[in-house]
Amino acid sequence: MSLFEHADFDQHEQVSFFHDKESGLKAIIAVHNTKLGASLGGCRMWPYASSQEALTDVLRLSSGMTYKAALAGLPQGGGKAVIIGNPRSDKTQQLMYAMGKAVDTFKGQYVIAEDSGISVQDLQFMATQSHHVAGTSAKFAYDGSPADGNPAPSTAYGVFMGLKAAVEHATGSDLNGKTVAIQGVGHVGLRLARHLKNAGANLIVADIFAEGLEIAKNELGATVVDPNDIHAVDADVFAPCAMGGAINNASLSQIKAKIIAGAANNQLATPEMDVLLKQRGITYVPDYLINAGGIIDIFHQRNDSTAEKMRAQLEQIGQTVKLILGRAQAEDLPTGQVANQIAEEKFRA
Ligand code: NAD
Repeated sequence: MSLFEHADFDQHEQVSFFHDKESGLKAIIAVHNTKLGASLGGCRMWPYASSQEALTDVLRLSSGMTYKAALAGLPQGGGKAVIIGNPRSDKTQQLMYAMGKAVDTFKGQYVIAEDSGISVQDLQFMATQSHHVAGTSAKFAYDGSPADGNPAPSTAYGVFMGLKAAVEHATGSDLNGKTVAIQGVGHVGLRLARHLKNAGANLIVADIFAEGLEIAKNELGATVVDPNDIHAVDADVFAPCAMGGAINNASLSQIKAKIIAGAANNQLATPEMDVLLKQRGITYVPDYLINAGGIIDIFHQRNDSTAEKMRAQLEQIGQTVKLILGRAQAEDLPTGQVANQIAEEKFRA
Protein backbone atom coordinates (compact mmCIF):
# COMPACT_ATOMS: atom_id res chain seq x y z
CA MET A 1 0.00 0.00 0.00
CA SER A 2 1.55 3.30 -1.00
CA LEU A 3 1.26 6.19 1.41
CA PHE A 4 3.54 9.04 0.39
CA GLU A 5 2.48 8.49 -3.25
CA HIS A 6 -1.23 8.31 -2.37
CA ALA A 7 -3.33 10.83 -4.35
CA ASP A 8 -4.81 12.13 -1.07
CA PHE A 9 -1.61 12.20 0.96
CA ASP A 10 -1.59 16.01 0.82
CA GLN A 11 1.34 16.66 3.17
CA HIS A 12 -0.11 14.76 6.14
CA GLU A 13 2.07 15.18 9.23
CA GLN A 14 1.44 11.72 10.62
CA VAL A 15 -0.49 8.61 9.64
CA SER A 16 -0.48 5.73 12.13
CA PHE A 17 -1.79 2.21 11.74
CA PHE A 18 -2.97 0.32 14.83
CA HIS A 19 -3.54 -3.36 15.36
CA ASP A 20 -4.50 -4.91 18.68
CA LYS A 21 -4.59 -8.69 18.61
CA GLU A 22 -6.73 -9.15 21.73
CA SER A 23 -9.59 -6.83 20.83
CA GLY A 24 -9.19 -7.23 17.08
CA LEU A 25 -8.77 -3.48 16.59
CA LYS A 26 -7.62 -2.40 13.14
CA ALA A 27 -7.54 1.36 12.89
CA ILE A 28 -5.83 4.26 11.14
CA ILE A 29 -5.37 7.71 12.64
CA ALA A 30 -4.34 10.51 10.31
CA VAL A 31 -3.13 13.91 11.46
CA HIS A 32 -3.14 16.31 8.54
CA ASN A 33 -1.92 19.61 9.92
CA THR A 34 -1.33 21.02 13.42
CA LYS A 35 -0.06 24.48 12.47
CA LEU A 36 -3.07 26.18 14.12
CA GLY A 37 -3.35 23.76 17.05
CA ALA A 38 -3.84 20.13 18.01
CA SER A 39 -5.81 18.21 15.43
CA LEU A 40 -9.43 17.29 16.06
CA GLY A 41 -11.68 15.02 14.06
CA GLY A 42 -14.25 12.29 14.41
CA CYS A 43 -13.78 8.55 14.35
CA ARG A 44 -15.68 6.57 11.75
CA MET A 45 -16.31 2.84 12.14
CA TRP A 46 -17.11 1.20 8.82
CA PRO A 47 -16.72 -2.27 7.23
CA TYR A 48 -14.26 -1.03 4.60
CA ALA A 49 -13.76 -3.53 1.80
CA SER A 50 -9.98 -3.04 1.97
CA SER A 51 -7.38 -1.21 4.04
CA GLN A 52 -6.69 0.91 0.93
CA GLU A 53 -10.29 2.12 1.01
CA ALA A 54 -9.98 2.91 4.73
CA LEU A 55 -6.75 4.82 4.10
CA THR A 56 -8.31 6.90 1.32
CA ASP A 57 -11.27 7.76 3.53
CA VAL A 58 -9.20 8.78 6.54
CA LEU A 59 -6.79 10.91 4.47
CA ARG A 60 -9.61 12.81 2.74
CA LEU A 61 -11.55 13.30 5.94
CA SER A 62 -8.59 14.50 7.98
CA SER A 63 -7.43 17.13 5.47
CA GLY A 64 -11.06 18.27 5.23
CA MET A 65 -11.01 18.88 8.98
CA THR A 66 -7.99 21.17 8.67
CA TYR A 67 -9.83 23.34 6.13
CA LYS A 68 -13.00 23.31 8.22
CA ALA A 69 -11.24 24.36 11.44
CA ALA A 70 -9.21 27.07 9.68
CA LEU A 71 -12.28 28.64 8.05
CA ALA A 72 -14.21 28.46 11.32
CA GLY A 73 -11.43 30.48 12.96
CA LEU A 74 -10.61 27.76 15.48
CA PRO A 75 -7.07 27.40 16.90
CA GLN A 76 -7.16 23.79 15.84
CA GLY A 77 -5.81 21.45 13.20
CA GLY A 78 -7.34 18.59 11.28
CA GLY A 79 -7.21 14.86 11.88
CA LYS A 80 -9.46 11.85 11.63
CA ALA A 81 -9.65 8.20 12.63
CA VAL A 82 -11.19 5.12 11.08
CA ILE A 83 -11.83 1.74 12.64
CA ILE A 84 -12.15 -1.08 10.13
CA GLY A 85 -15.17 -3.14 11.17
CA ASN A 86 -18.92 -3.34 11.24
CA PRO A 87 -20.30 -1.07 14.00
CA ARG A 88 -23.34 -3.34 14.40
CA SER A 89 -21.53 -6.64 14.79
CA ASP A 90 -17.83 -6.01 15.54
CA LYS A 91 -18.05 -3.39 18.26
CA THR A 92 -16.97 -4.32 21.80
CA GLN A 93 -15.97 -2.40 24.91
CA GLN A 94 -12.44 -3.87 24.54
CA LEU A 95 -12.21 -2.49 21.03
CA MET A 96 -13.03 0.98 22.32
CA TYR A 97 -10.46 0.69 25.12
CA ALA A 98 -7.84 -0.28 22.54
CA MET A 99 -8.86 2.69 20.40
CA GLY A 100 -8.56 5.00 23.42
CA LYS A 101 -5.00 3.73 23.95
CA ALA A 102 -4.22 4.35 20.28
CA VAL A 103 -5.47 7.94 20.58
CA ASP A 104 -3.36 8.46 23.69
CA THR A 105 -0.14 7.72 21.77
CA PHE A 106 -0.58 11.11 20.06
CA LYS A 107 -0.19 12.84 23.47
CA GLY A 108 -2.91 15.37 22.64
CA GLN A 109 -1.88 16.20 19.07
CA TYR A 110 -4.96 14.29 17.95
CA VAL A 111 -8.30 14.63 19.76
CA ILE A 112 -10.95 12.11 18.79
CA ALA A 113 -14.70 12.79 18.49
CA GLU A 114 -17.85 11.16 17.12
CA ASP A 115 -18.60 10.24 13.50
CA SER A 116 -20.69 7.56 11.81
CA GLY A 117 -20.68 4.24 13.61
CA ILE A 118 -19.38 5.73 16.87
CA SER A 119 -21.64 6.71 19.78
CA VAL A 120 -21.16 8.91 22.83
CA GLN A 121 -20.88 5.74 24.91
CA ASP A 122 -18.05 4.45 22.67
CA LEU A 123 -16.24 7.73 23.27
CA GLN A 124 -16.80 7.37 27.00
CA PHE A 125 -15.08 3.96 26.89
CA MET A 126 -12.17 5.51 24.96
CA ALA A 127 -12.03 8.33 27.52
CA THR A 128 -11.13 5.82 30.25
CA GLN A 129 -7.80 5.35 28.40
CA SER A 130 -7.06 8.89 27.21
CA HIS A 131 -7.87 12.51 28.09
CA HIS A 132 -7.89 13.38 24.42
CA VAL A 133 -11.47 12.41 23.70
CA ALA A 134 -14.08 15.09 22.84
CA GLY A 135 -17.86 14.97 22.75
CA THR A 136 -18.40 12.79 25.83
CA SER A 137 -20.58 15.45 27.45
CA ALA A 138 -21.82 18.99 26.85
CA LYS A 139 -22.11 21.83 29.37
CA PHE A 140 -24.22 24.33 27.43
CA ALA A 141 -26.08 24.95 24.18
CA TYR A 142 -25.56 28.06 22.03
CA ASP A 143 -29.07 29.39 22.82
CA GLY A 144 -28.98 28.80 26.57
CA SER A 145 -31.26 25.75 26.43
CA PRO A 146 -30.19 22.58 28.28
CA ALA A 147 -27.43 20.77 26.39
CA ASP A 148 -27.87 17.13 25.47
CA GLY A 149 -24.45 16.67 23.88
CA ASN A 150 -25.81 16.56 20.32
CA PRO A 151 -23.99 19.15 18.13
CA ALA A 152 -26.86 19.27 15.57
CA PRO A 153 -28.48 22.43 17.07
CA SER A 154 -25.18 24.30 16.65
CA THR A 155 -24.67 22.90 13.17
CA ALA A 156 -28.18 23.93 12.13
CA TYR A 157 -27.75 27.44 13.54
CA GLY A 158 -24.42 27.84 11.73
CA VAL A 159 -25.96 26.62 8.46
CA PHE A 160 -28.84 29.06 8.96
CA MET A 161 -26.42 31.97 9.44
CA GLY A 162 -24.44 30.95 6.35
CA LEU A 163 -27.53 30.42 4.21
CA LYS A 164 -28.95 33.80 5.27
CA ALA A 165 -25.67 35.50 4.40
CA ALA A 166 -25.60 33.80 0.97
CA VAL A 167 -29.15 34.98 0.22
CA GLU A 168 -28.25 38.52 1.25
CA HIS A 169 -25.13 38.41 -0.92
CA ALA A 170 -26.84 36.98 -4.00
CA THR A 171 -30.19 38.79 -3.86
CA GLY A 172 -29.57 41.90 -1.77
CA SER A 173 -32.58 41.03 0.40
CA ASP A 174 -33.43 38.84 3.39
CA LEU A 175 -35.09 35.43 3.70
CA ASN A 176 -38.63 36.74 4.02
CA GLY A 177 -40.72 35.23 1.20
CA LYS A 178 -37.81 33.20 -0.23
CA THR A 179 -38.28 29.49 -0.91
CA VAL A 180 -35.79 26.96 0.44
CA ALA A 181 -35.78 23.29 -0.66
CA ILE A 182 -34.35 21.06 2.08
CA GLN A 183 -33.12 17.58 1.16
CA GLY A 184 -33.27 15.57 4.38
CA VAL A 185 -35.15 16.72 7.49
CA GLY A 186 -33.13 14.83 10.09
CA HIS A 187 -31.24 16.21 13.09
CA VAL A 188 -29.87 19.22 11.23
CA GLY A 189 -32.37 19.66 8.36
CA LEU A 190 -35.44 19.92 10.59
CA ARG A 191 -33.78 22.41 12.93
CA LEU A 192 -32.68 24.46 9.92
CA ALA A 193 -36.29 24.38 8.68
CA ARG A 194 -37.47 25.92 11.97
CA HIS A 195 -34.95 28.78 11.74
CA LEU A 196 -35.96 29.42 8.14
CA LYS A 197 -39.66 29.42 8.97
CA ASN A 198 -39.05 31.95 11.76
CA ALA A 199 -37.24 34.14 9.22
CA GLY A 200 -40.29 34.11 6.93
CA ALA A 201 -39.10 31.58 4.33
CA ASN A 202 -41.34 29.08 2.50
CA LEU A 203 -40.22 25.47 2.79
CA ILE A 204 -40.17 22.53 0.40
CA VAL A 205 -38.85 19.32 1.97
CA ALA A 206 -38.08 15.71 1.12
CA ASP A 207 -36.89 12.72 3.11
CA ILE A 208 -36.86 8.98 2.72
CA PHE A 209 -38.52 8.59 6.14
CA ALA A 210 -41.85 10.06 7.23
CA GLU A 211 -40.97 11.27 10.75
CA GLY A 212 -39.31 14.59 9.94
CA LEU A 213 -41.65 15.20 7.02
CA GLU A 214 -44.73 15.04 9.25
CA ILE A 215 -43.28 17.64 11.60
CA ALA A 216 -42.15 19.88 8.73
CA LYS A 217 -45.58 19.68 7.12
CA ASN A 218 -47.80 20.01 10.20
CA GLU A 219 -45.70 22.33 12.35
CA LEU A 220 -43.97 24.44 9.71
CA GLY A 221 -46.39 24.30 6.78
CA ALA A 222 -43.75 22.81 4.47
CA THR A 223 -44.63 21.34 1.09
CA VAL A 224 -43.47 17.73 0.82
CA VAL A 225 -42.07 16.40 -2.47
CA ASP A 226 -40.56 13.13 -3.65
CA PRO A 227 -36.87 12.67 -2.67
CA ASN A 228 -36.04 12.23 -6.37
CA ASP A 229 -37.36 15.71 -7.17
CA ILE A 230 -36.19 17.92 -4.31
CA HIS A 231 -33.04 19.19 -6.05
CA ALA A 232 -35.06 20.21 -9.11
CA VAL A 233 -37.96 22.16 -7.55
CA ASP A 234 -38.52 25.87 -8.10
CA ALA A 235 -36.74 27.41 -5.13
CA ASP A 236 -34.34 30.24 -4.34
CA VAL A 237 -32.08 27.97 -2.28
CA PHE A 238 -31.32 24.26 -2.41
CA ALA A 239 -30.14 23.01 0.99
CA PRO A 240 -28.64 19.47 0.88
CA CYS A 241 -28.96 18.11 4.43
CA ALA A 242 -28.88 14.36 3.80
CA MET A 243 -25.97 12.36 2.40
CA GLY A 244 -22.98 13.43 0.29
CA GLY A 245 -22.90 13.75 -3.50
CA ALA A 246 -26.15 15.72 -3.96
CA ILE A 247 -24.45 17.80 -6.66
CA ASN A 248 -23.50 15.34 -9.38
CA ASN A 249 -23.55 14.90 -13.15
CA ALA A 250 -27.20 13.87 -13.10
CA SER A 251 -28.55 16.54 -10.72
CA LEU A 252 -26.44 19.51 -11.87
CA SER A 253 -28.44 20.46 -14.96
CA GLN A 254 -31.76 20.06 -13.11
CA ILE A 255 -31.04 22.38 -10.19
CA LYS A 256 -33.15 25.54 -10.54
CA ALA A 257 -32.12 27.27 -7.32
CA LYS A 258 -29.48 29.97 -7.74
CA ILE A 259 -27.98 29.29 -4.30
CA ILE A 260 -26.81 26.01 -2.75
CA ALA A 261 -26.27 26.10 1.00
CA GLY A 262 -26.79 23.11 3.27
CA ALA A 263 -25.38 20.93 6.03
CA ALA A 264 -24.39 17.74 4.22
CA ASN A 265 -20.72 16.80 4.06
CA ASN A 266 -19.11 16.27 0.63
CA GLN A 267 -21.98 17.76 -1.37
CA LEU A 268 -19.96 17.89 -4.58
CA ALA A 269 -19.68 14.42 -6.16
CA THR A 270 -16.42 15.54 -7.81
CA PRO A 271 -14.24 18.63 -7.24
CA GLU A 272 -14.97 19.91 -10.80
CA MET A 273 -18.57 20.56 -9.72
CA ASP A 274 -17.28 23.75 -8.08
CA VAL A 275 -16.39 25.15 -11.53
CA LEU A 276 -19.52 23.76 -13.22
CA LEU A 277 -21.81 25.37 -10.64
CA LYS A 278 -20.14 28.72 -11.26
CA GLN A 279 -20.60 28.30 -15.01
CA ARG A 280 -24.31 27.71 -14.41
CA GLY A 281 -24.53 30.92 -12.36
CA ILE A 282 -25.21 29.08 -9.10
CA THR A 283 -23.72 30.43 -5.88
CA TYR A 284 -22.38 27.44 -3.95
CA VAL A 285 -21.53 27.83 -0.28
CA PRO A 286 -18.77 25.25 0.40
CA ASP A 287 -20.07 22.57 2.77
CA TYR A 288 -17.04 22.54 5.09
CA LEU A 289 -17.46 26.29 5.57
CA ILE A 290 -21.16 26.35 6.37
CA ASN A 291 -21.43 23.14 8.43
CA ALA A 292 -18.64 23.88 10.92
CA GLY A 293 -21.11 24.38 13.78
CA GLY A 294 -20.47 20.86 15.10
CA ILE A 295 -16.74 21.36 15.61
CA ILE A 296 -17.30 24.88 16.92
CA ASP A 297 -19.60 23.32 19.53
CA ILE A 298 -17.04 20.66 20.49
CA PHE A 299 -14.27 23.26 20.73
CA HIS A 300 -16.22 25.48 23.13
CA GLN A 301 -17.39 22.54 25.27
CA ARG A 302 -13.75 21.44 25.73
CA ASN A 303 -12.16 24.81 26.29
CA ASP A 304 -13.83 26.38 29.29
CA SER A 305 -15.91 28.68 27.12
CA THR A 306 -19.47 30.03 27.37
CA ALA A 307 -22.70 29.73 25.39
CA GLU A 308 -22.32 33.41 24.35
CA LYS A 309 -18.83 32.89 22.90
CA MET A 310 -19.99 29.78 21.09
CA ARG A 311 -22.99 31.57 19.61
CA ALA A 312 -20.79 34.46 18.44
CA GLN A 313 -18.49 32.03 16.66
CA LEU A 314 -21.44 30.27 15.01
CA GLU A 315 -22.70 33.65 13.79
CA GLN A 316 -19.23 34.36 12.42
CA ILE A 317 -19.95 31.68 9.78
CA GLY A 318 -22.27 34.22 8.14
CA GLN A 319 -19.47 36.81 7.96
CA THR A 320 -17.05 34.27 6.49
CA VAL A 321 -19.62 33.24 3.87
CA LYS A 322 -19.98 36.90 2.84
CA LEU A 323 -16.21 37.32 2.67
CA ILE A 324 -15.74 34.25 0.48
CA LEU A 325 -18.68 34.90 -1.83
CA GLY A 326 -17.56 38.52 -2.21
CA ARG A 327 -14.00 37.53 -3.07
CA ALA A 328 -15.16 34.83 -5.50
CA GLN A 329 -17.33 37.38 -7.29
CA ALA A 330 -14.61 40.03 -7.41
CA GLU A 331 -11.98 37.60 -8.70
CA ASP A 332 -14.38 35.62 -10.91
CA LEU A 333 -13.43 32.34 -9.25
CA PRO A 334 -15.41 29.31 -8.02
CA THR A 335 -16.35 29.66 -4.36
CA GLY A 336 -14.71 26.38 -3.29
CA GLN A 337 -11.40 27.49 -4.77
CA VAL A 338 -11.54 30.78 -2.85
CA ALA A 339 -12.50 29.02 0.40
CA ASN A 340 -9.55 26.65 0.01
CA GLN A 341 -7.18 29.55 -0.64
CA ILE A 342 -8.35 31.43 2.45
CA ALA A 343 -8.00 28.32 4.63
CA GLU A 344 -4.53 27.56 3.23
CA GLU A 345 -3.40 31.14 3.87
CA LYS A 346 -4.12 30.40 7.54
CA PHE A 347 -2.71 26.91 8.03
CA ARG A 348 0.15 26.94 5.53
CA ALA A 349 1.41 30.48 6.25
P1 NAD B 1 -29.54 12.64 10.02
O1 NAD B 1 -29.27 11.23 9.69
O2 NAD B 1 -30.21 12.98 11.31
O3 NAD B 1 -30.45 13.30 8.87
C1 NAD B 1 -30.30 13.00 7.51
C2 NAD B 1 -31.70 12.87 6.93
O4 NAD B 1 -31.58 12.69 5.53
C3 NAD B 1 -32.47 11.66 7.49
O5 NAD B 1 -33.74 12.06 7.93
C4 NAD B 1 -32.55 10.73 6.28
O6 NAD B 1 -33.71 9.95 6.29
C5 NAD B 1 -32.53 11.71 5.13
N1 NAD B 1 -32.13 11.16 3.84
C6 NAD B 1 -31.22 10.19 3.58
N2 NAD B 1 -31.14 9.97 2.27
C7 NAD B 1 -32.00 10.83 1.68
C8 NAD B 1 -32.37 11.11 0.34
N3 NAD B 1 -31.83 10.43 -0.69
N4 NAD B 1 -33.28 12.08 0.08
C9 NAD B 1 -33.83 12.75 1.10
N5 NAD B 1 -33.53 12.54 2.40
C10 NAD B 1 -32.63 11.59 2.68
O7 NAD B 1 -28.16 13.40 9.86
P2 NAD B 1 -27.81 14.87 10.36
O8 NAD B 1 -27.09 14.79 11.64
O9 NAD B 1 -29.01 15.75 10.24
O10 NAD B 1 -26.74 15.30 9.26
C11 NAD B 1 -27.14 15.67 7.95
C12 NAD B 1 -25.90 15.94 7.09
O11 NAD B 1 -25.14 16.99 7.67
C13 NAD B 1 -24.94 14.75 6.96
O12 NAD B 1 -24.35 14.80 5.68
C14 NAD B 1 -23.90 15.04 8.01
O13 NAD B 1 -22.65 14.45 7.69
C15 NAD B 1 -23.82 16.56 7.92
N6 NAD B 1 -23.31 17.18 9.15
C16 NAD B 1 -23.97 16.98 10.32
C17 NAD B 1 -23.48 17.57 11.48
C18 NAD B 1 -24.19 17.40 12.80
O14 NAD B 1 -23.87 18.12 13.73
N7 NAD B 1 -25.14 16.48 12.91
C19 NAD B 1 -22.32 18.37 11.43
C20 NAD B 1 -21.69 18.58 10.19
C21 NAD B 1 -22.19 17.96 9.05
